[in-house]
Amino acid sequence: MAPPLPPLTASTPLLHGEFGSYPARGPRFALTLTPQALHIQRLRPKPEARPRGGLVPLAEVSGCCTLRSCSPSDSAAYLSIYTYPRGRRGGRRRATRTFRADRAATYEENRAEAQRWATALMCLLRGLPLPGDGEITPELLPRAPRLLLLVNPFGGRGLAWQWCQNHVVPMISEAGLSFNLIQTERQNHARELVQGISLSEWDGIITISGDGLLYEVLNGLLERPDWEEAVKMPVGILPCGSGNALAGAVNLHGGFEPAVGLDLLLNCSLLLCHSGRRPLDLLSVTLASGTRCFSFLSVAWGFVSDVDIQSERFRALGSARFTLGTVLRLATLHTYRGRLSYLPATLEPASATPTHGLPRAKSELTLALAPGPVPPLAHSPLHRSVSDLPLPLSQYPLGSPGSPEPLPNPSLNGGGPEVVRDWAGAGDAPLSPDPLLPSPPGSPGEALPSSITEGSLKIPTSSGVPPPPADAPGANSTCGPSDHLLPPLGAPLPPGWVTLEEDFVLILAISPSHLGADLVAAPHARFDDGLVHLCWVRGGISRAMLLRLFLAMEHGSHFNVGCPQLGYAVAHAFRLEPLTPRGVLTVDGEQVEYGPVQAQLHPGLGTLLTGPPGCPRRKP
Ligand code: ADP
Ligand code: MG
Repeated sequence: MAPPLPPLTASTPLLHGEFGSYPARGPRFALTLTPQALHIQRLRPKPEARPRGGLVPLAEVSGCCTLRSCSPSDSAAYLSIYTYPRGRRGGRRRATRTFRADRAATYEENRAEAQRWATALMCLLRGLPLPGDGEITPELLPRAPRLLLLVNPFGGRGLAWQWCQNHVVPMISEAGLSFNLIQTERQNHARELVQGISLSEWDGIITISGDGLLYEVLNGLLERPDWEEAVKMPVGILPCGSGNALAGAVNLHGGFEPAVGLDLLLNCSLLLCHSGRRPLDLLSVTLASGTRCFSFLSVAWGFVSDVDIQSERFRALGSARFTLGTVLRLATLHTYRGRLSYLPATLEPASATPTHGLPRAKSELTLALAPGPVPPLAHSPLHRSVSDLPLPLSQYPLGSPGSPEPLPNPSLNGGGPEVVRDWAGAGDAPLSPDPLLPSPPGSPGEALPSSITEGSLKIPTSSGVPPPPADAPGANSTCGPSDHLLPPLGAPLPPGWVTLEEDFVLILAISPSHLGADLVAAPHARFDDGLVHLCWVRGGISRAMLLRLFLAMEHGSHFNVGCPQLGYAVAHAFRLEPLTPRGVLTVDGEQVEYGPVQAQLHPGLGTLLTGPPGCPRRKP
């Protein structure tokens, strides 16, 4: 077998060649493929002094295919690349770039050249190594990953199904991903579905809704008798809900500018077309009744949970419901007496520079969300029979990505009937391990004990806690890991815990960075830092200051506001005991029974499909 290429830099040329255009009368181009971009330079009729629009970053490419002309006299083969560049107004638009491989005398030779380019592109998108000796053939590509897509048609403003049909399905078809699409019919439908699936049949489960549907899926997986294996199933999120916090964090991890609405969906869909995953921390939450659930996002009490639940009636506004809810709730600001105890985590001084000053996403309040044009579907491989897709299946012509039969041409620079699809970027070889799978978190560096920090940030390390002993107390469930750091609720806490008893405006325990698509509550948090980030606001804060905090949170700069009532700590576990008789508690935005609650973080228990990490954005 050919040795793999030596480590590539972003600008290493992998392929270089001359192509014509479609239609054939158009200009000729020199194409160069590097690990991060396709460089296009016009050669004829007039070479460009400065190439314009000649750089296609692979981060904006969903996939590619090769095509053949319907005319038997045309010996050229065609390479179509599906791109989603940002337009002048910032939103992404689909654009197909088609090139004509016509330097050889026969169609077979031209096709081999087009396939070489398409294979190399698909390998780069899927993070697969390219062989060193230049032998690039479609056999290099393993079979397409099989995804189970679950759509909540009532997610957000009720646009989830429409957006899925118009944007998600075309894009992941272009990526050559194999998928099955299921509409949820009721609350907990997704939870039940994932309890019954055969794990070996799927490479990932993707929820298309808000954070609530993924909450159902993760809890469903952890309720299975084989939970240890099930919870490792890679999960992904495509944001079509009103609360899209995890998608906001995925978008940031992928190196995209902050986005909301359709822009956020397109960014996350692009990331899904590229391989890449991270371990996902999950919080095991025990409620007053002893019920346990698993959270990937947050436990909230006070202002945040009040806004979340009371703004349900403004669901038609999408994520703007939270903005309106915040304004209304500010008018009747409450404080709640409670006790917050936590097991502090350690802090790493080396990384104590928070990611402040994130660029601002366009607010969804002002965003006009007109659905884009519906691109015709190339093919949509529904190769499982579990689909209860309510669409007539004839709308989705069946065809495996490696199918030798030419499929109807999707849309080719305006969509002429003269060219037919030849190959769409996936072979039938067995799936190989994901080369982008990160190695387990490294050992922690020099660590300092944590302290409560007020109005300023200290950055935690992913320091480990001792592994659970076999007879750990708090092992309160047959499914899911035992909470060895937690005594039963009501029993005294062990030494080493910190307790605060105060009047609080809010308490928020958050695992990833985002509380909403454009709310960065814990700017330095990572999916797998092994930490729960505790934020609280004490009573005595003015309405104006609380509003300032939430506005600053859009940039993740609320710790710079200098608010004396704002507190922050990182922890491995916490307990929250409300002393005010009435209030609202939420876990991942879903209301749960009100009363004492405690939780332990399980580092990297799940797996999140994130796409490859992007370059970290510079501070403005
Ligand atoms: P949003 O962010 O818009 O609230 P979520 O994904 O959080 O979107 O979903 C909201 C709630 O809808 C979740 O509790 C979920 O369980 C529930 N749900 C899922 N599918 C359906 C359905 N078909 N009908 C009604 N509710 C559903
Ligand atoms: Mg975390």
